[in-house]
Amino acid sequence: MGGEPPGGSSSSSSSVGESGQEQYQALAFDTAVSTLVAVAVYVVVKVSLDGFRQWRSKISVLIVGSGPIGLTAALVAVRSGKVLKLTVLDERCRSALLCRPQQIALDPRSVGFLLGLGVDFDNMEGCWHNEHFFTKIGVFQEYLLSILERKKQKVDVRVQLGTKFTEEYLHRLPRPQWPRVLVVADGSCGDSCSVLGISSDYAVESCRAYGANATIERLDQRQVPTPEIRAHRLYFDLSAYGVEALRDHKNHASKPGFHLKIYGTLRSRYMALVCPASDTKMVRFLCHTANASIMKNIFHQSFNAYKTDIEPRLSDLTLHRLQCSRRLFEVQLSHRHVSAAYIQGDNVAVTVEGEAARVLNFDTGCGVNLGMRGLESLKTFIYKTATAVDQNDVLEALAAKIKHSRQVSETFKQTGLLESMYE
Ligand SMILES: Cc1cc2nc3c(=O)[nH]c(=O)nc-3n(C[C@H](O)[C@H](O)[C@H](O)COP(=O)(O)OP(=O)(O)OC[C@H]3O[C@@H](n4cnc5c(N)ncnc54)[C@H](O)[C@@H]3O)c2cc1C
Repeated sequence: MGGEPPGGSSSSSSSVGESGQEQYQALAFDTAVSTLVAVAVYVVVKVSLDGFRQWRSKISVLIVGSGPIGLTAALVAVRSGKVLKLTVLDERCRSALLCRPQQIALDPRSVGFLLGLGVDFDNMEGCWHNEHFFTKIGVFQEYLLSILERKKQKVDVRVQLGTKFTEEYLHRLPRPQWPRVLVVADGSCGDSCSVLGISSDYAVESCRAYGANATIERLDQRQVPTPEIRAHRLYFDLSAYGVEALRDHKNHASKPGFHLKIYGTLRSRYMALVCPASDTKMVRFLCHTANASIMKNIFHQSFNAYKTDIEPRLSDLTLHRLQCSRRLFEVQLSHRHVSAAYIQGDNVAVTVEGEAARVLNFDTGCGVNLGMRGLESLKTFIYKTATAVDQNDVLEALAAKIKHSRQVSETFKQTGLLESMYE
């Protein structure tokens, strides 16, 4: 009787077991590899498709307001590469839009931002001083309108001046032409936000300073860009009104001193006077006095002391051309609570910019720069909205925009007056 030795039987069964295990391992390996390949192919295809979709996705943008901020926003939009159609509105007609007398002072950061948008300062009437660029607000707007005109070859740009943004305007647009992004830049008096159902509540916050403004209109003077003048640590002799400046001076910490700025063209002169918040007798007196001639006198004397040599002094005969605040007031920044919103049913993302978003009750001669800061996040906002896959992506883009808008106000409260007045 032959029989397989016990050892032989076990070795064959173990070899069968091993080959089964090997087969199993090979199968598992194959499955893992093919799963990995499938996942990799899926990822590559998805990433490529997403990339292609993002690359291709372009949206329609509507900008309400063609002030300096609305037109700069338009430039950001056309340069974002994500805009198929851009519409820019202003209720004022072209001549009314461009005739405002004030001069704007673009600070170095705004100049850098605008250079990045292709603004060529060599081709704009204006002048440089201390790395600031001074030009008339109308000159700046006209220049931006001319750039937008040239962009028409690449993007469908429509500038509709003399057209007010209203509920009827929006509802007259055929649904497919509704914008995906709507930029409200309708200034401090605009009411477009209420048309869109966006709350008009503002947070009013102190900039820890007191200020006053003045204007001098002299039609016989030149309307050419003029650098600003700054003067610091000024004290006024109010002893005639019973305010003893000397008593304040003994306490060095409570001696804030005033900062003066004279700006604008020689024809439309503006002045800003500011001092950091303090509880000195002089500040208290100037905040509460009922005698408006005191402030007028301060501006009169200050103008004559610091004006340029080429402009005439203010005399008793010309003093009526000086208009000014009656007393010192607390400098406050008002910031819109809701600076960006999503209109769900219509799938429109709205952002509020410039003076429509935040406004100072005190003119520093640099107001436009505050609006420019807000626009620094607009390109990313347009990009994220254009490439959003779902509503969550849009809401994320809006949250980032709101956060940046708050940061702009917060930074201004900390350093805005320092940069625009105290230095
Ligand atoms: C007297 C004065 C002097 C100033 N001096 C200086 C200075 O020296 N330097 C400086 O930097 N800044 C200065 N400023 C501030 C500067 O003018 C503002 O910061 C700047 O104009 C704000 O720009 P904006 O685009 O936000 O708003 P705006 O310039 O006010 O533009 C808003 C636009 O929206 C339009 N609009 C409103 N509602 C609608 C609607 N429903 N539909 C369509 N369009 C609408 C308006 O017609 C307007 O053209 C001064 C301001 C004033 C009042």
